[in-house]
Amino acid sequence: MSDIFLGMPAFPRAAKAAVHNPTLRANLRHATHTIRTKRARAVAELDDWDRLREAGRRIKDHTLRHLDTYLEQLEAAVTRAGGTVHWAADAAEANAIVTALVQATGEREVVKVKSMATQEIGLNEALEAAGITAYETDLAELIVQLGDDRPSHILVPAIHRNRGEIRDLFARTMADWGRPAPDGLTDTPADLAEAARLHLREKFLRAKVAVSGANFMVAETGTLVVLESEGNGRMCLTLPETLISVVGIEKTIPTWRDLEVFLQTLPRSSTAERMNPYTSMWTGTTDGDGPRAFHLVLLDNGRTDTLADEVGRQALRCIRCSACLNVCPVYERAGGHAYGSVYPGPIGAILSPQLRGTTSEIDASLPYASSLCGACYDVCPVAIDIPEVLVHLRERVADQGGHRLEQAAVKVASWVLDHPAVLAAGERLAARTRRAHPARPPGTKAWTESRDLPELPAEPFRDWWRKNRT
Ligand code: SF4
Repeated sequence: MSDIFLGMPAFPRAAKAAVHNPTLRANLRHATHTIRTKRARAVAELDDWDRLREAGRRIKDHTLRHLDTYLEQLEAAVTRAGGTVHWAADAAEANAIVTALVQATGEREVVKVKSMATQEIGLNEALEAAGITAYETDLAELIVQLGDDRPSHILVPAIHRNRGEIRDLFARTMADWGRPAPDGLTDTPADLAEAARLHLREKFLRAKVAVSGANFMVAETGTLVVLESEGNGRMCLTLPETLISVVGIEKTIPTWRDLEVFLQTLPRSSTAERMNPYTSMWTGTTDGDGPRAFHLVLLDNGRTDTLADEVGRQALRCIRCSACLNVCPVYERAGGHAYGSVYPGPIGAILSPQLRGTTSEIDASLPYASSLCGACYDVCPVAIDIPEVLVHLRERVADQGGHRLEQAAVKVASWVLDHPAVLAAGERLAARTRRAHPARPPGTKAWTESRDLPELPAEPFRDWWRKNRT
């Protein structure tokens, strides 16, 4: 993964600042509760939701088990259809490939369809370093870009902003990126959408190169699929002369038949819609129709390592619907930025530490960014057992030497429990000195801030037992 988010503080510190921001909390609460209620309604309409969920899980698991075979099939199909496939082991390689492809066209700007993979690798920054400007065309991504901000939600990257903030941002910054916002811009959704439409339209009509991601790649035909709600994706995928798609290898599915399942579960889980508004599919190139050159950059960037972990690999089933974010009590309060990754919320807490490893402070803290309530697992349309992976990753962090104080405490406790005489003496001593015990022993502030330590009894239980029951 790129290092654009690394160096961020661990989750508890980043979350603390967010929790003390009442505007952010109000924005998040309103948005997540609205989406989650609608999603629940849309899902309840289907009698066979559980079967669809199970089918999605099985398709993904099967594909991941045979990923090598399906990727080769995909490469052959894309090549047959006139596309060119590139393999990128990591972010640096993917960025170098895309930069070289854009440079080969002689262009200095590209339009982008919302893509988590390109955010993951820090493509915009890499292109900028090469003198190429990337314009985001998804409305929420545009808001993030104009605000020199970071996305905070998978589906609604600007969920942390309200309408008033967006109006001010458009009025202040749009002119720096192209067509300015209209005079007298209000904060009504229609006005804001019109301002974005006018601003983006110029870019669509001018751009010769587009960069996209994909929601799915169908191995049998080499077809890529993008689901979006604004039509900006379709403009990017059809108008430019060159299309470059950067896609994680786990987005592969074997057949069109498999797509049928996800085209039902993804819209209902993400935007609570029965059917997706714009579903674009393309297979290589076609004379006289759409881009003349198509490049597919297949991105690994930690996915093969994740695949090797028997428990953690289920995170690769994710179809990025964001349902788990919208029900997560931790996300609702902390917001997406605290996760220090383009993948926030419960899925980010298990995916980022696997893609990036758990050596940085932020990645080692992410598996703990959960109350393990299980709401994320209940709503996941591909049945990823997020709590199971969180606990698994906590073990990994502990094994690599994290939480030394707890480890030392457990070692001491284990030795004491192995020596009953020492335990009994310790209990008596603790009981006799209990009045002198501090309410908050040193080093326990985080725990005792919201809890009271239980009071010690005047007499240890074993002594009481010996006196009364023997
Ligand atoms: S983990 Fe499941 S619920 Fe969360 S974004 Fe991925 S598919 Fe959706």
